[in-house]
Parts: sequence; structure tokens; C-alpha cells
Amino acid sequence: MTIRTRLTFLYSSLLAVVILVFIAATSSVLSWTLRMQVDETLLEVIENERYNAISDIMWPSSGDSMSPKTRSTPGLFLQIWHYNERGQPFLHNVSYSLLGYGYNEPMDPLALGESEQVRRDVIIGGDHRRVISQPLVIDGKIRGYIQAASSLRTVDAAVDRLLKIMLIGGTITILISLLVGDYLARRALRPIDAIAQTAKQITAADDLSRRIPYNGPPDELGQLTHIFNNTLERLERLFNVQRRFVADVSHEMRTPLTIIQGNIDLMRRMGPDEQTMAAVADEAKRMIRLVDDLLLLAKADAGRLPLEQARIDLDTLVLDVFRQAQMLSKEVSVSLGHVEPARVMGDSDRLKQLLLNLLSNGMKYTPPGGKVTLALHREGAHAVLTVSDTGIGIPPEDLSHIFDRFYRVDKARSRAQGGTGLGLSIAKWIAEAHGGEITVSSEVDEGSVFTVRLPLLPDADQQTAPSRPTQPHSRAIRLPRPR
Ligand code: ADP
Repeated sequence: MTIRTRLTFLYSSLLAVVILVFIAATSSVLSWTLRMQVDETLLEVIENERYNAISDIMWPSSGDSMSPKTRSTPGLFLQIWHYNERGQPFLHNVSYSLLGYGYNEPMDPLALGESEQVRRDVIIGGDHRRVISQPLVIDGKIRGYIQAASSLRTVDAAVDRLLKIMLIGGTITILISLLVGDYLARRALRPIDAIAQTAKQITAADDLSRRIPYNGPPDELGQLTHIFNNTLERLERLFNVQRRFVADVSHEMRTPLTIIQGNIDLMRRMGPDEQTMAAVADEAKRMIRLVDDLLLLAKADAGRLPLEQARIDLDTLVLDVFRQAQMLSKEVSVSLGHVEPARVMGDSDRLKQLLLNLLSNGMKYTPPGGKVTLALHREGAHAVLTVSDTGIGIPPEDLSHIFDRFYRVDKARSRAQGGTGLGLSIAKWIAEAHGGEITVSSEVDEGSVFTVRLPLLPDADQQTAPSRPTQPHSRAIRLPRPR
């Protein structure tokens, strides 16, 4: 059963219950009110006849003293019962309406013997009647009863009529509510239908670019549509990234493999020589680097790359990296700029990797004779590491892409330098995994500045840093320029 049908039935059933309760309550109230009116009339008659009836018992010789009006009122049935010497009730007096039937049984036999007034509905000769029995008490003893009755035919007919009218009206209302409910439910659930249809089309056509059109108000369904569209957008983006990534990886792998294959063919024909073997070894190394970088990023994506959380004195780390970087290039000089003491929380190996990636890039993309400078200072709650070079720079249109995987401004140059196109992606991931960020500014033919901002540990932690004899914390240090 669809939600629409279920909703429609639920609403209509609720309405039906409400209507039935209303009908029951209304007819009960009507029946009760009409009965009260009948009771009032009967009580009035009893009250009028009581005195005469008691006189008849006390002075039997006075005879039949029922008032002529009571006796002859059509639709009013009256019996006056006395007890004989043996204590048995006998019919002393009766209205014409009963005489006509020859009816001489008590109208409410159960009430005879009761010491209180009794009101009861009984069936007499197939007629539904209201009977009130009033004991006649003389000197504290029950000496007889007056039983007055009236037909309930008009009351029953009025209640019946009302019931019929209300049942017909109720049924029509429920039928209308079924139709209106179905229409409203269909209207309200239309966006859900649209979502389901679009989802079906997306699956059938394998097309993540579709979106659900929605022009309604920003209610729950509007939000659902919005969320669904956002999810589609994200999926589409991820899917495209993944597709591009697979294509890039295949392409990146293919180039070194082709070179290796070509060189092996050459060695087969010409015999091995030093240069060809070196080319094969270079390409194999590049592939290993590529696979390592890819593995690292894949683990990072999957959240399976554990980051050590230790207090790190960045100034010490900067010095270590600086020393390592000095070994990397003979043509480009590496220098250390202003270095301030700064303590952060994180993984020192990863932070070293980040800085080495930036430094080696600086060296790769700076012509011989140029300079790469590493510096560290504190700025508010951040430690700011900068790697600046006097290299070729990056064109403005490429700046926003260089942290993307496999993005290279000049593919041939990057390859020639042994680049994999993943170094900056890894650097970005490391900076962000430390709660920081990496940015770049660059001028073509002037050089580039990569800036990494990492959150500093709170002041108290900065102060408790143990002092190291080789790197005094209290002031900025400037190391001698390398070679
Ligand atoms: P690659 O392995 O190609 O160096 P990266 O991810 O490290 O890959 O860098 C991406 C691209 O950004 C590089 O190919 C290069 O075009 C550009 N780039 C990175 N660093 C610099 C720099 N210091 N100067 C100029 N261009 C740079």
C-alpha cells in the first residue's frame, strides 16, 4: 500500500471515528432531552392523580375518582393499583386508552413492590413506552401504585430520523474526505514522486548531472529535495574526481613503463649500456615514488594514515629540514631566514615531509644561481612557515589548481625534474591534518612563496618548552648562509 493511500485512509478513518462519536453523542442527547419532556408530563399527571388515588384508598366508598381529563387523554396510559387484604395488587382504576385494549396487567410488573419511584422503558403490545411507577404511601405503608405511561414512538422516530440524516451526511462527508484526502496527499507527495523518478532516471541513465526541480516552499520536502540535490552534486564531484584520478594514474604509470619497455628493447638489440640502464633505473625510481605518494594519499583519504600527536619545537624541526635540504641541490642555494621559537602539536615526520616537498619544489622550479629560503615566525595563535624562492613562478590562472592531484603547470618540466604531480597535494593534506592551511603567492619569473600556518600550542605550553643549548628560544636565530 502506498504512503498516499495509507495517509488518505488514516485521515478518513479518523474523520469517520469523529463523526460516529458525534452522531452517538447527538442522538443520545436528543433522546435524553425528549425523554425528560415525556417524564415531566407523566410526573405532572401522577402528581395530579395522587391525591385522588390516596383518597380512594382511605375512603373506598368514595369510588372511582380519576379526573375525566386524565382518563380520556389519548396517548396517556394510567393504572391505579391497590392492595387487597391478602396483600395482592389489584387494578383499581384505568384510563380509557388501556380499557380499549382490555389491558389489565401491570404496565411495569417489576416496579410493583418497589418503595421508590421507578422509571423504565417497556414494550407493551409491541409499543415502546415510558412507564413511571409511583408508590402510594399512607402512614409510612405502601398501599398501592400509580403507573403512568406514554408512548415513545415520537421520541424514537425523532432520534431515528436524526440518526438517518446524520449517517447519510457522515457517509457523504467521509466519501468527500477520501477524495479530497487522496488529492491533497498526492499533491503533498508530488516532490517525493519527483525524487523517486529522478533517482530512477539517474540509476537507469547512469547520469549524476540530473537534479530534482523544486519550486515549492522551503518546508520539509523542500529541505529533502535540497539535501538530495546536494548529495547528487557531491557524488557527481567525487565521481568525476575519481574518474579523473584513475585516468591520471593510468597515464602517469604508462609513461615510465613505456620508457622502461623502450629501453629494454634497445638493450635487447644493442646490448646493455650504462646510460640505458640508468634511464631504466630512473623511471623505476619515479614509479616507486609515484606509487608511494599514491598510497599515502589513498590512506589519508580513507582516514587510515595515523598522525602522531607530539609536542614539536618547530624551530628545531626547521633546522633539521634545512640541513637535509642543503644536500639536495648544488645549483640552487638554500638559506634560512628569520626563525622564531614555536611549539605545535603534531607529527614531526609528516611536517618534515611537508617542508621538504616545498623546498625540493623551490629547488626544482628555480633556475641555477637562484635561492630558496625557509623561515619561521609566530603570528597571533599561529606558527607561520614560509618557503620562498626566486624561481620561475606560477601563472595566476594555475595558482588555484596547483594543490590538485597531478596538476602541473608544465608537465614536461615537472617530469624532467622527476616530479609526480602529487607533492603539493600531500603538503596540503599534512597542513590541514594539523589543523592548519597552506597558501601560495607567486609572480611569473620572480618567484613563489608558499606559506604554511599551523595552530600554536597555548602560551603555557610554549613557556614550558625545555631550553636547548643549540637553539636559544628567547630570540630569533639566523644561521650562516650555506655555501
Ligand atoms: P610536481 O611533482 O610536479 O612538482 P607538485 O604537486 O609538487 O608536483 O607541484 C605541482 C605543480 O605546481 C608543479 O608541477 C609546478 O608546475 C608547480 N609548482 C610547485 N611548486 C612550485 C614552485 N616553487 N615554483 C613554481 N612552480 C611550482
